[in-house]
Formats: sequence, structure tokens, C-alpha cells
Amino acid sequence: MGSRGQKDIAAGIGYNKSYKICRHFQRGRIPMPAHYCPLHARLFRTSKNEWIDFPREKIEGIKSLYQFFQRRDIDTPEYLVIETACDQCDVQRFQDKVRKIASP
Ligand SMILES: [Zn+2]
Repeated sequence: MGSRGQKDIAAGIGYNKSYKICRHFQRGRIPMPAHYCPLHARLFRTSKNEWIDFPREKIEGIKSLYQFFQRRDIDTPEYLVIETACDQCDVQRFQDKVRKIASP
């Protein structure tokens, strides 16, 4: 009887829900949009915090998957592709800057 009362209290304060959310984060399965550089075909891997080469055909597949889910009102932020500058873009930008300074 005592344990049942505790469960009710836990449910009342949303303990179970927050516990589930907590476990979700712990497993590193937070749904996050993908960051992709279309110029260099590079994808940012959040789990390893690094840029990796990623084929354009694959990213197109992910994009169409996202559209597919969106049309059915299913929230899937992990399939959202955000086009952004990658590490190589940064290198290029830096080199351009140096070149501008170096050239008379
Ligand atoms: Zn790039």
C-alpha cells in the first residue's frame, strides 16, 4: 500500500516522465538536426565532434526522409539538414584572408 502511494506521488510530480527524458539524454540519443556543408560534402558528427566526408546522395536521402515525415506531421529533428560552413570552409576563408593581406 505504501509503495503504491509513492508511485502516485511520483506520477503526480511527473517523476517518471523526467526520468525517461533523463535516460534519453544519457544515452546520447537527443534528436538533433544534421549540419552539412554542401560545398565540400561534409557532415558534422556531433557524437565525435568532428567533420566527416559524407556523400551528397546520402544527404539527399535524409532530406527526402525529413520531407516525408513533415508531410505526415511527424516531428523528426534528427532528419533535418541544416546547410552550414564546415572546417574546410573555415580553412578556405582563412587562406583567402591571408592572401588578401599578403597581396599588395
Ligand atoms: Zn565546407
